[in-house]
Amino acid sequence: MSAMLVPSAVSDGTYICAECIEHIHEALEEYGGKTAESSVESLSMDKVPKPQEIFDFLNQYVIGQEDAKKYLSVAVYNHYKRLAQDNDDVDIEKSNIVMVGPTGTGKTLLAKTIARLLDVPFAIVDATVLTEAGYVGEDIESLLTRLLQNADYDVEKAQRGIVFIDEIDKIARKGDNPSITRDVSGEGVQQGLLKLLEGSIVNVPPQGGRKHPEQKMIAVDTKNILFICGGAFDGIERKIAHRLNTHVVGYAGTKMRQRVSTDNYLKYVAPQDLKSFGLIPEIIGRLPLLVHLDPLDRDALRRVLTEPKNAITRQYEKIFAMDGVKLVFAPETLDLIVDKAIEFKLGARGLRSIVETIMIDSMFEVPSTDIKELTITPEYALEKLSTVNLAAEA
Ligand code: ADP
Repeated sequence: MSAMLVPSAVSDGTYICAECIEHIHEALEEYGGKTAESSVESLSMDKVPKPQEIFDFLNQYVIGQEDAKKYLSVAVYNHYKRLAQDNDDVDIEKSNIVMVGPTGTGKTLLAKTIARLLDVPFAIVDATVLTEAGYVGEDIESLLTRLLQNADYDVEKAQRGIVFIDEIDKIARKGDNPSITRDVSGEGVQQGLLKLLEGSIVNVPPQGGRKHPEQKMIAVDTKNILFICGGAFDGIERKIAHRLNTHVVGYAGTKMRQRVSTDNYLKYVAPQDLKSFGLIPEIIGRLPLLVHLDPLDRDALRRVLTEPKNAITRQYEKIFAMDGVKLVFAPETLDLIVDKAIEFKLGARGLRSIVETIMIDSMFEVPSTDIKELTITPEYALEKLSTVNLAAEA
């Protein structure tokens, strides 16, 4: 369709197409009269959970990761404070967060658990889609589509929400990071993302996906949106180790080196390591809170199985209880499940698939029997596991 061009009243040789005029007119009608200030009504801090309360809540679902829980609790609390602040001289700036830790250690779980507690809109999005889209840069705004949807398209509500961007490490620059093979100019994506993190008014496609000219966009101000990013940053330990070893020299260095425990370099992650990994300094500057997540050891995995409020074993107990069957996992069976998760390098993510494999036959058979109690012994579990090759899933 060829649109009519209307000449500008103020600048010679400048035209705007009639279709654009229509879009602008609609947008102005919709948002006209509302200024950025009026969209943030003040919030009472009385109802906001204190950092310790947020921390305690996270404890019910997430095992370990004390540092990350503490940082997140404070960040979320401060997010509310920023929303509640008066417009005086001191402007509390937002502190976006980046979480660094191996996959399956609870980054997404932390984000989801926080979402349960909050009464601001929350969305989990994946940075990898940005590189997959091919020509990147223009579709970054679609990261906010989910937030808008979760806020029932209430723009003002969305503008005070929290967005968790998973796999942020996948948009690292290729040059500095040989492990990323697929890279549609990671830097271009990062530049686009920077705009969102800094706080600006962006046009969001209401249905997500790619923008197209016919689509009506929704203008969203990201100034008060809190961004939490997460990534595994595979191989970053080497960068950290390298930095620690090159900077630590001499006598003081020896002492320092002794204090550095080499079994978990992630503990020492610093902004310059993210830079070595391939994030641009501007992005790092916009993510002032850097927290690490620890790998889950045998003990932690064992606790993950049983302790969280919606622990995997509790879920299966509930499934069976609904058929009037009391399900019991023998303690040795739990040890075995953990051993298998470690053996197959599946981590916490693998626990569920292992339990599922063990339980599938029982879930199929038991409801048709009059069994009232079922104990899962290690022998039974081993027999069920022997029929599948879990290692292939790793
Ligand atoms: P990622 O760090 O890759 O985002 P997830 O948070 O998605 O990992 O973890 C995958 C699953 O593993 C979770 O759904 C949860 O069942 C389990 N899990 C991982 N870490 C923890 C943890 N620290 N405490 C409790 N469960 C965990």
